[in-house]
Amino acid sequence: MGRYMRRSPTLKRGNKRKWLTVMASLAVIIILLLGSLAGADDGGEGDTMDGSTNDTVIVLVYYPDLDVGNKVFISFEPWIWETNYEEGYHLMKVSQREIELLTAAGLQVVVADQQALPAIESIPNYPCYETVEETFAFAEGLAANYPDFATWTDVGDSWEKSAGLGGYDMRVLRLTNSAIPGPKPRFFATSAIHAREYTTAPLLVRFAQYLVDNYGTDADATWILDYHEVHLMFHTNPDGRKKAEAGALWRKNTSQNYCGATSNNRGADLNRNFTYRWDCCGGSSGNECSQTYRGPSPASEPETQAVQNYLRSLFPDQRGPNDNDPAPAEATGIYIDFHSYSNLVLWPWGYTGSPAPNETQLQTLGRKFAYWNDYRPQQAIGLYVTDGATTDFGYGDLGVASYCFELGTAFFQSCSYFETTIVPANLPALIYAVKVARTPYMTPAGPDAYNLSLSDDRVPVGSTVTLSGTVDDTRYDNQEGTEPTQNIAAAEYYVDTPPWVVGSTAMTMSASDGGFDSRQENVEATIDTSGLSEGRHIIFVRGQDENGDWGACSAIFLTVSSTCVLFGDFDGNGQVEAADIMEVASRWRMTDQDADWDARYDVDGDGNTDVVDIMLVVAHWGETCG
Ligand SMILES: [Zn+2]
Repeated sequence: MGRYMRRSPTLKRGNKRKWLTVMASLAVIIILLLGSLAGADDGGEGDTMDGSTNDTVIVLVYYPDLDVGNKVFISFEPWIWETNYEEGYHLMKVSQREIELLTAAGLQVVVADQQALPAIESIPNYPCYETVEETFAFAEGLAANYPDFATWTDVGDSWEKSAGLGGYDMRVLRLTNSAIPGPKPRFFATSAIHAREYTTAPLLVRFAQYLVDNYGTDADATWILDYHEVHLMFHTNPDGRKKAEAGALWRKNTSQNYCGATSNNRGADLNRNFTYRWDCCGGSSGNECSQTYRGPSPASEPETQAVQNYLRSLFPDQRGPNDNDPAPAEATGIYIDFHSYSNLVLWPWGYTGSPAPNETQLQTLGRKFAYWNDYRPQQAIGLYVTDGATTDFGYGDLGVASYCFELGTAFFQSCSYFETTIVPANLPALIYAVKVARTPYMTPAGPDAYNLSLSDDRVPVGSTVTLSGTVDDTRYDNQEGTEPTQNIAAAEYYVDTPPWVVGSTAMTMSASDGGFDSRQENVEATIDTSGLSEGRHIIFVRGQDENGDWGACSAIFLTVSSTCVLFGDFDGNGQVEAADIMEVASRWRMTDQDADWDARYDVDGDGNTDVVDIMLVVAHWGETCG
């Protein structure tokens, strides 16, 4: 499949906020602040967790260790502008209420001086991040070029569109190989519901690109799209995103109904607007100007309605009506809502510190995700609760395994950090998520299969080939508690169809060292290719631990050619022709010291692909089978 050509988005410099005004008022505010703190009460119902009223001050909030720093982020993200990880503080724009809460939690709150304020309200270009329009053009292009794999669907309107003020459609890219019939397990991701969280939507664009680019060449990307549906809502708050693209630290939607039609503090916080436990617990604000304004009623915002309706269309309700009803072990589907920042993998509940009824299973998958991105895996509870959030809805309403990833270390993350750290750390987590979306409460407890190899990936019918790999029950992140692991008990492979397809046949693999007696085992099997059709086959491998849990599959391609094996017929099409000569010639001057050395092109076996090898193949030019 082709590559999508990236254009460099041009982000305009944003409007400066009223820094001078803030600084001029600073002395007055400090005096008011100290006076108010002396007689502080709890601020009243409507003002809890309120972050954007007039009386704000820029402070540094020092945290004693990163664990506390992350908890501060979870609870106070709306007020945080930047984090200095070296010095251990968050730069925050807060009102008296937040200072009270932070101080009550034992944190040191220091009023910032002018030198401490970075120029974060006007941003340089971030060419790695697509604009909303570029993201939509990318998805539309996939749907146009690969109609059998990609669909691009309108599932609702943004607030501005629903108000007749321009705006955007709420759109979902669905990826799956439609030639293979369903029903298939579903993976759903949303991103950029908080507009300023730059890295989130571009990460999902890279994921979609990865799947499409590698379909047919990478066996895992291939079976992921053959046997699953991947649904991506890149822009969950497109109106707000346009504000953020222009350099504003915009979080909410842009509804003009709240806080004044032209206020920069207008809008509802979509991630406090979901119906499950909406406004239950003091984890959102009733103040229209607050950064955590929950909206006037559950799912009042069109963006929220689009996400909720889409989730309910994808997943059945798999959980009972009570808070403590668990979803069954066989429940299906994964939902991840991508945010930034703090390097965290979070799961429900956020509205209470009590564990979710599926806490053990949510934790197991969370620790598996964190194995790849090295984020801290924990329940979505910080210093204080959040209510009406996406993941509490996904799990609470439907029983779907729901997660929030907090990517990276900044809202306006540098492109170099995005490219070198966020993308490579999170792509494997996303790939794994789709692999286990069939049974997310069961499969992650089992071992991973990886390092698959074949003694020869292209063999004539009737010959045997050795399949090897590693099965490993230890791949969890143990920063927050230790995931129990077990010895490997079994491994098996399947040809052409994965284990859950009716009629597929399990073939036993054995431990390379003679017995299954450890948590990580090299495994192998001899594949007999008699009876396999000519052409390319896909081999699935999986392992089981002593608890009986089967882990996620990995796969590798094996090509079976006709019984006639011709010298120099590299492409296995039954004749030695120009294509084969070009194939060996393209390896000219490679040696067995090269990383991508392929011994098949060293036909005389002297460790070099040289002119002798090319001439030996030329000597067979024109030979055919039969
Ligand atoms: Zn967020």
